[in-house]
Amino acid sequence: MARYTGSVCRLCRRENLKLFLKGDRCYSDKCAFDRRGYPPGQHGQRRGRKSSDYGIQLREKQKVKRMYGLSEKQFRLFFKRADRQKGITGINLLMLLEYRLDNVIYRLGFVNSRAQGRQLVKHNHFLVNGRKVNIPSYMIKLGDVIEVREKSRNVQAIGDSLDAVVRRGVPQWLDLEKENSKGIVKALPVREDITMPIQEQLIVELYSK
Ligand code: SF4
Repeated sequence: MARYTGSVCRLCRRENLKLFLKGDRCYSDKCAFDRRGYPPGQHGQRRGRKSSDYGIQLREKQKVKRMYGLSEKQFRLFFKRADRQKGITGINLLMLLEYRLDNVIYRLGFVNSRAQGRQLVKHNHFLVNGRKVNIPSYMIKLGDVIEVREKSRNVQAIGDSLDAVVRRGVPQWLDLEKENSKGIVKALPVREDITMPIQEQLIVELYSK
């Protein structure tokens, strides 16, 4: 899978939105978007360029894809799955993205970004319902218990993230037992739980062309 290896802060500047890809730094005065909130590159500061409908839809898709750290292929697969489900495709898509294990451990505060979540899941640091799961795209279900493995509890990245979680808060559909390094999916997320400004309908329009 082609993986983006450049500066993730450029992605925020490109999408004109803080995507919170760098953990605690995103909440500090070192945030590159707060310092230079214009698109990267030589023409980044040029004003007045009007985007086409296609351009607007494309940016919305790129924004969400980058937020969850997926490749185009993975994102399309999620879209197809969302489209097959009953209900509103755009909302289905966002919910499927939220169900991913790398996202859930990020939301719980065990890691400070989804990228770090992916890495630590692959390295076997987490249990779901008492079983080792090392697949970042694993889909959580209502009632699932996600915990840091006993022998991973002293991993510094996890401890640091848990210390910083107060800054961004844990969503109300999850329950964090910080002292036990454990989280419970007490409800499934709904659209209103995603507070980032996303117009998912634009993504549906893009992929429906
Ligand atoms: Fe984006 Fe975080 Fe970098 Fe700020 S620090 S530009 S929010 S990734």
